Amino acid sequence: MNKKTIRDVDASGRRVLVRVDFNVPMEDGAITDDTRIRAALPTINYLREQGAVVILCAHLGRPKGNRVPEESLQPTADRLAELMESPVAFVDDCIGELVAQAVAAASPGDVILLENTRFYPGEESNDKAEMLAFAEQLAAPAQMYVNDAFGASHRKHASTYGVTKYLSPCVAGLLVEEELTKLQRVLDADRQGFVAVLGGAKVSDKIGVIEQLLPRVERLLIGGAMAWAFFKAQGMEIGESLCSEENVAGARGILDTMSDYLGNMALPLDVHMKNLESGATKYVPADGIEPGWDALDIGPETRAHYATIVKQAQTVFWNGPMGYFEEPPFDEGTLAVARAMGDCSGYNVVGGGDSVAAITQMGLAEQMDHVSTGGGASLEFIENNGSLPAVEALDSKE
Ligand code: ADP
Ligand code: MG
Repeated sequence: MNKKTIRDVDASGRRVLVRVDFNVPMEDGAITDDTRIRAALPTINYLREQGAVVILCAHLGRPKGNRVPEESLQPTADRLAELMESPVAFVDDCIGELVAQAVAAASPGDVILLENTRFYPGEESNDKAEMLAFAEQLAAPAQMYVNDAFGASHRKHASTYGVTKYLSPCVAGLLVEEELTKLQRVLDADRQGFVAVLGGAKVSDKIGVIEQLLPRVERLLIGGAMAWAFFKAQGMEIGESLCSEENVAGARGILDTMSDYLGNMALPLDVHMKNLESGATKYVPADGIEPGWDALDIGPETRAHYATIVKQAQTVFWNGPMGYFEEPPFDEGTLAVARAMGDCSGYNVVGGGDSVAAITQMGLAEQMDHVSTGGGASLEFIENNGSLPAVEALDSKE
């Protein structure tokens, strides 16, 4: 990696602003998955041991510039304190007097967590002057900056990007370093034996990823509702299956512009569909979807075919479930790919988002070489051939 990390600088006795990704799923004020908080611990502990005053900032949800009590980071402060077995000073604001007071009261090794940066419109503002004005306030109490929020590094926001204009040095945390290193290995993989599996619902979001990967892989396996967009673009019947016009346009674009590489792409051979009126389900060949039916998963022939390819791969990158996995039995396709990845002795990476939820739910996360903490960020990393705006803004190694 050509960016400096916390190991390249001396943080002892310094006030360090650390952007973390604490955008955890919550239900009724309780954290349902603390993976992202755990993932930030190595950096936080490293800086504490160095004797830094650790000032954490993060966003949660989409409060869009308003103070939304349900999107307070307070519960993440409590969880972080439990995980560290040490107090965390939560500040009910992320800029201004309250923050200045908390920082002034802190000793080396102390951890402060600031309230949701998205409570201020400047955080995400498209108006650069407004974004930078907020970033300057956020940077004010600190002497250096660490980005450990991999999951937010595709965003040019005040806390991920703007603050780098006001602080020096600006370095990567250990999670960002690990994510970049492990995802880069995917981009560097030999074409021979490189298999990508893409699914999920939004083709339009993943067009750039398909364009980047298709020429680089031996096989690109398509599943999930994404496949129906390709079916429809080829004039096939998809009944009532999930598919937007935008997705069909995206699929059509790929079919038109990437004809040299379409031989690398595999679409489902069969599907598992459900009758919307009777609730009956059945497996049919790909060209057997009928009006009134909703294709919710890949079928058994496709499962076996994809699993065989995945198991033999040298490198596998997977993003997006193969079907409506939240509702069994439509988790069978996703489960088959997840198990095949577990059985694959090659290098395997799951690129964030709902596919991570799926493999975690299936208890298979431990068997992967890397499970990214960032869905959008890992896709954008692939799409941009290894570059993310908030990482580019950090100091380079000499
Ligand atoms: P990711 O977050 O992994 O990038 P997406 O957000 O694009 O994936 O899509 C994930 C969602 O797509 C899941 O909620 C899943 O249930 C849904 N999905 C996948 N295939 C289908 C399908 N055939 N029909 C309905 N929903 C589907
Ligand atoms: Mg998603």
